[in-house]
Amino acid sequence: MKYRAVVSNKKRLDSTADFILKVNEILLKTFGKPQRNLKSDPIDTLIATILSQNTNDINSHKAFRNLKKQFPTNENILNASLITIEKTIKIAGLAKQKSRAIKNSLKKIYSDNGELSLNSLKAMEIDEALKYLSSFKGIGLKTAACVLLFGLHWNVCPVDTHIHRILNRIGIVNTRDRNKTFYELNKILPDGIAHELHTNLIKLGRTICLSQKPKCFECPINSLCKYEKKNLVVSESVRTVINRNKDFMLLDNVN
Ligand code: SF4
Repeated sequence: MKYRAVVSNKKRLDSTADFILKVNEILLKTFGKPQRNLKSDPIDTLIATILSQNTNDINSHKAFRNLKKQFPTNENILNASLITIEKTIKIAGLAKQKSRAIKNSLKKIYSDNGELSLNSLKAMEIDEALKYLSSFKGIGLKTAACVLLFGLHWNVCPVDTHIHRILNRIGIVNTRDRNKTFYELNKILPDGIAHELHTNLIKLGRTICLSQKPKCFECPINSLCKYEKKNLVVSESVRTVINRNKDFMLLDNVN
């Protein structure tokens, strides 16, 4: 009995992994293979992700550039006053909250490592690294996962609001909670696809699988999707123009 349960559970996981691969393949054909910045530093990624909360990629990138111009090194940011950091990153919004999260994170990194470096993460398992980064004040699971994907290039797929919505609609997960979606997805995520899947799901969520009135009539993964309330009424006026590889993604432009 027990053996059968294990086998059927494994079969279910294997078929979900195959399903994810199919979705990924179609998204690659639609949006292209996203360009990747393999030179980014984990601390820069952490700071940029904090800046990106509740704003768009353009404004958070401007805030990141302002910060780097005003404080060329992370030591400079650590030694700066909160009010100066706040003024420098104002364009990204929530500047008070974000400046605190940035400064607290740098303080914690310095006190734990004796230097401003996150190289110690490289010796950790994924779960341990996520737990460590999430222990920083103001840092949640999504930000921690972004550091692992974009700063260390691990096969970890962060889950934002778009990805949570799409994965539930297409039937890869069935959860109400974004963090639960993250764990469900990442325990079966096939090797080597986290970056392209993450980026292309965000593109799908921004352009076609909208929160209200998704454009299911032109969705490339329509035939795989199990969403019960598909919007199949074709509307020429809202047809999407897809610019392959032209969308600006903040975390691939951090350096
Ligand atoms: S078919 Fe509709 S609900 Fe399903 S992924 Fe596409 S846009 Fe989203």
